[in-house]
Amino acid sequence: MSPDPNCIFCKIVAGAIPSRKVFEDDEIYAFHDINPWAPVHFLIIPKLHIVSLAHLEPQHQSLMGRIMTLAPQLALQEGARAYPDGGFRLVTNTGKEGGQEVHHLHFHVMGGPRPWLRG
Ligand code: AMP
Ligand code: ZN
Repeated sequence: MSPDPNCIFCKIVAGAIPSRKVFEDDEIYAFHDINPWAPVHFLIIPKLHIVSLAHLEPQHQSLMGRIMTLAPQLALQEGARAYPDGGFRLVTNTGKEGGQEVHHLHFHVMGGPRPWLRG
């Protein structure tokens, strides 16, 4: 899947729209959600324009594994307390009924002291 010129997250990856970076390497970008639900709320995305979890193909397996491994590390880095008293929530909305609004695969990582605004 090539970059989509109309995709807001592709624009963030390209630096055309500003974001508050949490992490970056050659294939992954993470940044703070603009409308946080929780004291810690950031998004992890593949730089590749993958539309949703429903669009994954076998060649994405190692990339998805890297994102899953990064999530707990970045949650701690961004201020979530350690498991089991702390922890975090990992959410991926998929499709219309799944509540997906931005159609570039992203993983919400939320944590920090409750109550949260949502979730
Ligand atoms: P979803 O409903 O799962 O598609 O989530 C999309 C998320 O992207 C929402 O939580 C938005 O607040 C967030 N979002 C949209 N635009 C931006 C942006 N420019 N920078 C950071 N987060 C954004
Ligand atoms: Zn995109």
